Amino acid sequence: MISLVPSGIPTSSSKVVSKNNSVFNLGAPFQKVTISSKEIFDYPATQRILENLKKYSMVPADFKAPEVVSTMDSVHAIAFDSATAVAPNNHPVGFGKNILHLTTQPGTSVKQCPGSDNMLCCHYHIINLVSNCPYDCSYCYLQTYLTQPMMTFYVNEEDIFDQVRKICERPPVSLLRIGTGEISDSLALDPLTGFSEKLAEVMTNYENVRLELKTKSKNVDHLLNLKRKDHVIFSWSINPPEIVNKEEHGTSRFEERIAAAAKVAAAGFVVGFHLDPVIYFENWKDCYERAIDYVLKNVPNEKIQWISIGGLRYLPQLKPITVRRHPDTSIYFEESVPGSDGKMRYPRFLRTEMFQFINDQIKSKAPQIYTYLCMETKPVWEKALARLPDRTF
Ligand code: SF4
Repeated sequence: MISLVPSGIPTSSSKVVSKNNSVFNLGAPFQKVTISSKEIFDYPATQRILENLKKYSMVPADFKAPEVVSTMDSVHAIAFDSATAVAPNNHPVGFGKNILHLTTQPGTSVKQCPGSDNMLCCHYHIINLVSNCPYDCSYCYLQTYLTQPMMTFYVNEEDIFDQVRKICERPPVSLLRIGTGEISDSLALDPLTGFSEKLAEVMTNYENVRLELKTKSKNVDHLLNLKRKDHVIFSWSINPPEIVNKEEHGTSRFEERIAAAAKVAAAGFVVGFHLDPVIYFENWKDCYERAIDYVLKNVPNEKIQWISIGGLRYLPQLKPITVRRHPDTSIYFEESVPGSDGKMRYPRFLRTEMFQFINDQIKSKAPQIYTYLCMETKPVWEKALARLPDRTF
C-alpha cells in the first residue's frame, strides 16, 4: 500500500495548522499533486492548471511535478491514511481535500439533477468537471457521497464540452439551466482551472440555456469580462453570518459573498441566492431577517433572478462523520425526522414555519423576486409558499 500522507497533513500526533491563501481564501496550498497516468500531461487543461498552481502558490515550495498514482491506489491510500489523521482530516473526504488529483472522466459528465424521491424538482442539469471541494461545511453531503475523495479535476474538458453541446442542441422545451456546483463549489478553485470561462464560451451560441455558477466564494474577478453576460447566472449559497462563521469552514464570509454579488451585478450579470441549508438555532428569525435585509439593500433587486430556500437535510450516516470531524457543530441541536427519500429533515411543521417566515421576509421587501423551495414536498410547498413549483426562473 502506498502512503499518501504528505508531510503537511496532521496525523494523530500533530495539530491542524490553519494557513491561508489570500487569493482563494483557503487553507492552501495543496499538500500533494497527483495525476492518474502519464497521458494526463497531454491535455491542455493539465498544462494550464499546473501553471496556475505555481502562479497562485497553491503547491508546496519544493513542488517539481505531479506524481503518477492510479486513481484507485489514491482512493485506497486515503482511506487507510485518514484513519490515523486528526480532525478534520480524519475522514477520506476531509483528507482528500489536501490532495489535488488530475484525471479524466470517461463516462457521462452532464446529467439531469437526480433530485430526491417524492420531492418536487426544478429540472436542473449538472456538469461535473471538479469533484470534492476545498471548503469544509460541517453539513456537506459530499462526506457521505464521494467514493473518490481526492480534490479532483477532470482534464478531458473537450469531451465534457461536447456533451454540453449535445444537450444544448436539443429542441428547447423550456429554459435549460445547467450548473457546475453539485459535487464541488463552482468558483472556489475556478481561477486555477479556468473551466467556467471555457464553459460559458461553449454555451454562447445557444439561446435557451443559462449557466449557473453556484458558490460560497468571492472569486469572480476573472469572469467579469465574459462575452455574453445574459447567459451566465452567478449564484451564492448564503446563510446568516452566525451560521457561516460556525459551520462553513474556509468559505468566503457572508459580507464577502454579497460584495461579490454586487460586483457581478454592476458588471452586467444577473444573480441568484440559495438560502440553503436553512438551519434552526436560537434567534433564527432575527438572524435570517437581518441577512435578507442585508442582501436586498446591497444587491440591486432587479438583478436578483431568484432566491431559493432549502432546509437542512442529510443522510443519517452524516451525523457521526460531522461530529467526529467538526465536534463543535450546532447543526444537530434540533430534532430531525427521516423523510421518504431517506434524508433527515426538521419536522414538517418547523420547516413550514421557517420557509414561510423567510419567504414572507423576502416578499414583503421585494415582491417581484421569484422564490422557490429546494427538495421539498408538495404539502410544504402549499403551506409555506401557497403554490407549487413552475419553471419560470
Ligand atoms: S461549499 Fe458546498 S460542496 Fe463545498 S464543502 Fe460547502 S457544502 Fe460542500
